[in-house]
Parts: sequence; C-alpha cells; structure tokens
Amino acid sequence: MPTFLFDDIIFGPVSSRRLGKSLGINLLPTHRKICNFDCIYCECGLSPHELIQKSHFPSASDVKNALTAKLVHMKAQNDLPTTITFAGNGEPTLHPEFEAIILSTVEIRNRLAPQSKIAVLSNATLISRKTITSSLAKIDLNILKLDSALNNTINCINRPKLPFSADKLIDNLQEFRKKIIIQTLFLKGTVNGQYIDNTSPEELNALLDAYQLIKPEMVMIYTIARSTPVEGLEKIEKEQLDAIGQTIEKLGIKVQISY
Ligand code: SF4
Repeated sequence: MPTFLFDDIIFGPVSSRRLGKSLGINLLPTHRKICNFDCIYCECGLSPHELIQKSHFPSASDVKNALTAKLVHMKAQNDLPTTITFAGNGEPTLHPEFEAIILSTVEIRNRLAPQSKIAVLSNATLISRKTITSSLAKIDLNILKLDSALNNTINCINRPKLPFSADKLIDNLQEFRKKIIIQTLFLKGTVNGQYIDNTSPEELNALLDAYQLIKPEMVMIYTIARSTPVEGLEKIEKEQLDAIGQTIEKLGIKVQISY
C-alpha cells in the first residue's frame, strides 16, 4: 500500500479545512517514521521496530533556522500562515528537544507572524510528562487523538508500542486542564481476522462519555482519506459521520467534520 513521508523539516503551506493555511513542521526524520503508536490507518506507513536514536531527529537549531527562513520569506510575500502546525512523519512530542523547539517556535512566531496560531497534532501518549505538559501549555491548539474509549479497540486501531490503556489516556486528557481539541478517526474493517468498527453503539457511547469527562473545546471527526498501510479498512459514509457529529453536538461540544 503506498504511504507518504514528508521530505523536509518545513512543509507546505497546505490549505486545511481544519487549520486554514497551515505551515507544517516535521520534527521526525525525513527518511523514516518514528511513533510510539502504529495506527492501522497511518498515512506514514507502519512504525519501524528499530530503536530510536537522538541522531535520527533534526536538531533544535536546524528547526529554528528552517522555520525562521520560511517565515521571513512568507512575510516578504505577504503570505503568512494561519497556523504553524507540528505534524509530520510520526509523533512530534517524541523529539528529545521538544521543549526547546516549542520555546523557540513561540519566540519566532511572536516576532515574525504574531497572528499565526501554533498547533501540535499528537497522539497524547506523553501529555502527562512535565516537560510535555508545560510545552503544550504554551501553544494555541492542542489537537489530541482519541480513536476509541475502549481498550481492546485502541489496541487494534492504534497498536501502542508502550504500556497503555484507554482509561489512563482519558484520565491524562482530563487532567491536562489546557484547551484541548480531540481528534477521532472513524473506520470499519477486518484486520488480522478481527472486525473493528468504532462507530458501533457501544463504541460511540464510550466515546461520548469520554468527551464529557475531557470537556474539549472541540471534537474533530474524520475518516480514512488515503491509502492505509493495513488492508481491509473501509471509510465511513458522509451521512454516518454527519449523524455522529450531530450526536456529539447534542452534548454541547463543538464539532468539525472532515470528509
Ligand atoms: S499516532 Fe499519528 S503518526 Fe503515529 S501511527 Fe498513529 S497516525 Fe501515524
């Protein structure tokens, strides 16, 4: 199955319904994915098993220089981004200098693009670590993944590579106490002989309970848009995604649906 890796530290800007004109920052290597999840739908492909080394990541000063150069150029063109978005080839909070990078990004943004928001797309596995919590508290949009509130389903969809449970993740999201946007991808399919459907009534009820505990500013829901590294997955029909969105809105939570 074809998958995709970003080939530089800075990518885009791309036009995003969720984030406007979004300038991406890839804190992961350009030649491989690094993530502590191995989601069955990941557009970057399967997560390799090799040990992660510091030398795999771009340095904080390389990130700083690349972002500064790009924003100086965009400013000269009167074309600054709506959002500076940490995403890329894996999980950005795994970068060993994540704290320093967030600090310098805030400084660069304030100096060159004060209207731009800073967003981090994360799987939320490390948000209870002190340095990660304090770094994420400095940015505007924490977009954090929650694909299921049930352990078995999370293990099937996200395939964590660390000791992990849905209950712990939901507790951590609840305790984070910063503005949170939850991102949930809905899918169906059979993987390794096991049928997965995180739109079933049991799944939705558990997710709705979790959203109520976490109290996010918004829930972004979406489905598979491109090829997946695992075969046998189906995207969710627009009508069903709309209906899920309406159910979440009834809780008084804002919803954004991408299809
Ligand atoms: S958390 Fe994101 S980067 Fe990691 S495997 Fe899942 S989709 Fe891919």
